[in-house]
Amino acid sequence: MAEEIKSKVDVVIVGGGSAGCVLASRLSEDPSLRVLLLEAGMDAADPEKYPDLANPYPGVAYSNPIYTWPGMKASYGHSGSNAPETKSARYEQARVLGGGSAINGIGANRGAPSDYNEWADMGLVGWGWEDCLPYFRKLERDLDCDGPLHGKEGPIPIQRRGSEISSPFVDAMVAANKALGVPFHPDQNGEWEDGMFEMAVNMDERKRRVSVAWGYLRPEVRQRPNLEIRTMTTVADLLFEEGRVRGVIAERGGVRDAIEAGRVILSAGALATPAMLMRAGIGPGAHLADCGIAVRQNLPGVGQNLMEHPSAGLVPFLKPSARRRGRPDYHIPIGYRFSSGLEGCPQGDMHMNFVTRAAWHPIGRQLGSIFFWVNKSYSRGQLMLDPRAPRGQPRIDFRMLSDRRDLDRLMGGFVRAVAIASDPRLGDVTHGIYAGGMSEIGKLFSKPSGVGKAVTSLGAIGLDAIGSLREKVLPYMLAHFDDPQRLVSDRDALETYIKSTVGGVWHPSGTCRMGVPGDHMAVTGEDGAVRGVPGLHVCDASLMPTIPCANTNLPTIMIAENIADRLRRA
Ligand SMILES: Cc1cc2nc3c(=O)[nH]c(=O)nc-3n(C[C@H](O)[C@H](O)[C@H](O)COP(=O)(O)OP(=O)(O)OC[C@H]3O[C@@H](n4cnc5c(N)ncnc54)[C@H](O)[C@@H]3O)c2cc1C
Repeated sequence: MAEEIKSKVDVVIVGGGSAGCVLASRLSEDPSLRVLLLEAGMDAADPEKYPDLANPYPGVAYSNPIYTWPGMKASYGHSGSNAPETKSARYEQARVLGGGSAINGIGANRGAPSDYNEWADMGLVGWGWEDCLPYFRKLERDLDCDGPLHGKEGPIPIQRRGSEISSPFVDAMVAANKALGVPFHPDQNGEWEDGMFEMAVNMDERKRRVSVAWGYLRPEVRQRPNLEIRTMTTVADLLFEEGRVRGVIAERGGVRDAIEAGRVILSAGALATPAMLMRAGIGPGAHLADCGIAVRQNLPGVGQNLMEHPSAGLVPFLKPSARRRGRPDYHIPIGYRFSSGLEGCPQGDMHMNFVTRAAWHPIGRQLGSIFFWVNKSYSRGQLMLDPRAPRGQPRIDFRMLSDRRDLDRLMGGFVRAVAIASDPRLGDVTHGIYAGGMSEIGKLFSKPSGVGKAVTSLGAIGLDAIGSLREKVLPYMLAHFDDPQRLVSDRDALETYIKSTVGGVWHPSGTCRMGVPGDHMAVTGEDGAVRGVPGLHVCDASLMPTIPCANTNLPTIMIAENIADRLRRA
C-alpha cells in the first residue's frame, strides 16, 4: 500500500446509518474485535441535545438540509425509452450518525412473511421468514404487544399512538373506510392481513424518536474500549493489496487518514455503497471503462436492481375544526394495507396512510394527506456513475412504473383513495380534496426556519380568509394540482397524471443484492461478502434482492443483525 497507515483495526464499518450503527454495536460485543465506525455526518444521537431529531413530528428532521447529503437528485419516473431519464428532482438521504433512522418518518414495520420466503426461495439460506423473525424480535422492545411475533428487550422501542394523535379528518377517513367493509386490526406487526391499523413507530415512552444511533450506540456501548466512532469523517477510497481489501482512506477536515483493517464493511446505504464500489473498480466492466476506471472485479450487478416504492397522493384542505391542535406530533395515526388483486401480486401489496398534516408549518397544518404506494414493486432502476465526473453525484434512475403492474396498481390506489374520500363524512371535515403534491417552493418553505414560519403563517391566514377563492390559489401552491374526480373518470388522463407525478417513499434498496453462486447479477453472497474481493462486505439496504412490503428501516436493521451474527460466527 502506498499510503502511510495511521491506524489498524479488525473491522472498519463505512457509514453509521441504520445498518452501520447496528453492526458497530453488535460486533464490538466481542471484546477481542477492534471496531471502527466512520460516518460522514455529525454525531447528533443524543435526544436531549438534538430535540429536532427526537421530535415525534419527523418532518422537522428530514426537511433540514444539515442532516442530508447536499445536491442529491434522482429521476423518478420512466419515459418508456432505454435512455437514462433526464428529468430529476431532489432526493433526500441522511448524512448524520443514525443515517435514515435519524431523520426518517419513524414508520416501524417488517413486511410480509412471503417477502422473506421469496429470498429463501432464491436459495438464500438463513433469509426466510422463520430465520428473519428472531432478528425482528431481537431489535425491538414493543411497548404494546406481546406474543411470539414480538420482542420485549431490544434496543428500539416500538409503539402505536394512533388514537391519541388522530384528528377529525383522519377519524372521518377511518369511518368511511369501515363503511366500505375494511376491518381495523390492533397490530401492524401482527398477522399479515389486509385492513387498517395504528401505525407502529420507533418512539420511546417520552414520545421521542429512537434512532439506531441512540438505541444501539447508547453511552455504555460507546464506552467499550474496542469501539471507536469517528463522525464528520468521509471514506474516500478503499485500499487494496494483492486483490484483497486492506483498509480505507478516510477524510476529516481536509486531512486524509489511511486505516488498515482485516475486514471492511460498506454500510453507506443503497445509493452510496454501489457508487463507492464502482469508484474502486468493482462493478459493471463496460461502464467502469466508460468512466476511465480500471476494472478490479467485473460485477455487472453493482448499481442495478435499484428499487423504491412508487407513490402518489391526495391533498385535503381541512376545515379549521378538523385540524390537529397544539405542537406538531407524529402525523400518521393510521395506515391501511390492501391488496390490488392483480394476478400474481401478493396479498397486501398496497399501502395507504391517513395523515393529519402535510408539513410542520401553519399551511402544512391546514392540509392533510392521503398518501399511498405500491408496497410490492416490480420496476427496477439503476445507479451509475457520471462518466464525466465519476467522483461526483451518481446518476440515480429509479424508472418507477416501468413495470406495467406498478403503474396499474398505483392507478388502482388512486381510484381507491378517491372512493374513500368521496364518503359524505369527508365533506364535514374538508373544504375540498385535490390531486397534487408539495411544490418545489413548498419544499423550500418546509425547511425549518423563522422566515418559513413567518411566510407560511401569513399564507395560512390568507388561505382561510379567502374562502372558496382558495381554489384559484391552490394550483399555484401545489404541484400537479388537478381534480381527482376528473382523473378517475378518464383512465387515459389518470395514467398520464400518475406517470408524470409518481414519487417515492425514500426506500432505495437492492443495488448490491445478495445471491447464490451462479447468479451472475448478484454482488454478494448470502453473508454480504462481495464476490471475488476478499476482505470486503456490504451490509445495508443494498443487499435486498427484492423489496419487502414495508418501510425499509426495520428490514435494514434486521439485515444488519443477521449479518452481524454471521460475521461473529465466521
Ligand atoms: C426522509 C426519509 C424518510 C423515511 N421514512 C421511513 C420510515 O418512516 N420508515 C422506515 O422504515 N424507513 C424509512 N425510510 C427509509 C429508511 O430510513 C432506510 O431504508 C434506512 O435508513 C437505510 O439504512 P442504510 O443503513 O441502508 O442506509 P443509511 O441509514 O442511509 O446509512 C448510510 C450512512 O452512510 C453514511 N455515508 C455515506 N457515504 C459515506 C462515506 N463515503 N463515508 C462515510 N459515511 C458515509 C451516510 O451519511 C449515512 O449516515 C426513510 C428514509 C428517508 C431518507
